[in-house]
Amino acid sequence: MPAITNHMPTAELQALDSAHHMHPFTTGDELTAKGARVITRANGVYLTDSEGVEILDGMAGLWCVNIGYGRDELAEVAARQMRELPYYNTFFQTTHVPAIALANKIAELAPGDLNHVFFASGGSEANDTNIRMVRTYWAAKGKPDKNILISRHNAYHGSSIGSGSLGGMSGMHAQGGLPIPDIHHINQPDWWAEGGDMTPEEFGLARARELEQAILDLGEDRVAAFIAEPVQGAGGVIVAPDSYWPEIQRICDKYEILLIVDEVICGFGRTGNWFGSQTLNIRPDIMTIAKGLSSGYQPIGGSVVSDEVAKTIDGLEFNHGYTYSGHPVASAVALENLRILEEEGIVDRVREETAPYLAEKWHGLADHPLVGETQIVGMMASLALTPDKASRAKFASDAGTVGLICRERCFANNLIMRHVGDRMVISPPLVLSLAEVDVLIERARRALDECHAQLKEQGLM
Ligand code: PMP
Repeated sequence: MPAITNHMPTAELQALDSAHHMHPFTTGDELTAKGARVITRANGVYLTDSEGVEILDGMAGLWCVNIGYGRDELAEVAARQMRELPYYNTFFQTTHVPAIALANKIAELAPGDLNHVFFASGGSEANDTNIRMVRTYWAAKGKPDKNILISRHNAYHGSSIGSGSLGGMSGMHAQGGLPIPDIHHINQPDWWAEGGDMTPEEFGLARARELEQAILDLGEDRVAAFIAEPVQGAGGVIVAPDSYWPEIQRICDKYEILLIVDEVICGFGRTGNWFGSQTLNIRPDIMTIAKGLSSGYQPIGGSVVSDEVAKTIDGLEFNHGYTYSGHPVASAVALENLRILEEEGIVDRVREETAPYLAEKWHGLADHPLVGETQIVGMMASLALTPDKASRAKFASDAGTVGLICRERCFANNLIMRHVGDRMVISPPLVLSLAEVDVLIERARRALDECHAQLKEQGLM
């Protein structure tokens, strides 16, 4: 077999890709017919594909490349660490400097008494840890029946059996025997789609109180934890009304329910603070982290755990762990990424400069005939496409038909923007400059115009 390289013609790479590579969340046959876009290089906020086209990455990969592409410092740290100690585990009473240093740094950055880290290779694994940890915690407290986790419909917490069960994605639950027992879902705080005649404030309270009702129905002595993303990401960048989180916090406090805040997307600067919990004033007992922890340069995640939970777990043998928990190369790279985020003031700049500028421009898209609500927190944003803003109407076509057309128009204009149903979402690298914000918005508007024209042409609105 000849070596497969960047220099091969795109069609050949696509054929080899479809012959042997199974893609996540993809209909393989459709992709084979169309051919995958081959990404060959990236620098800053721009990707380059195998045809040499430069594309503005409005999604920071999969919500993860917070410091942008092409940072040599991370490559150098990885090479140095690979030479010194490429691998060792943290089972059996051993440790190593990268894991020690990273855990200490995370404890320093994390709010409140979240001072302990259990490492994983990504968000799914970390949420699996959380399921087992909260159940083990309550069992150790003499309450083994307190083992139900409450989550939300349309939440995303990962793809493993445990984390996929925690998530509330119906398409995932339809395959492979999910959810596992003792996971319960309540409704999401998506006012645009589900708020009816209520004001956003009324709706936020009503949706938060579904948690209280679920606890009362299931029994306080049965519910171990509630898990949620500060801002739902994969569900469509859905920002809860202001009334939502204070009520959730009150309910968790009142009934002694552990609060797991899934910061996999919101963590490490995405919302303009180190953690979404700080932006939204939430007090978690456990935070799930991944993605921006290493800006995607290495696969690493973890659970950041309060003193109280850690004290109990530390009193027993927690029979849980991954070969790559605290992987030295991943840990060293993550630590370097955090150094860059901190020393270059990237999180502060997001909060004070880039995010306010992006917000102004993003909300400016609301004058487009296709755009209903525009939402943004920090550097994650969404817009709802609608045939009629006043009534918050949905399109007559299957959900996602219009969103997909819009995404294709974005691609054609060299902008990566994702669609979730008929919502468009962005989550660009945090290092996006103001001039690059302008490019993003200009391309988004052009894509919306082209989408609008196409919908009319095809009789879809
Ligand atoms: N939680 C959230 C909020 C996520 O967005 C994701 C990934 N998109 C995960 C968990 C799962 O993380 P991973 O894909 O690293 O397993």
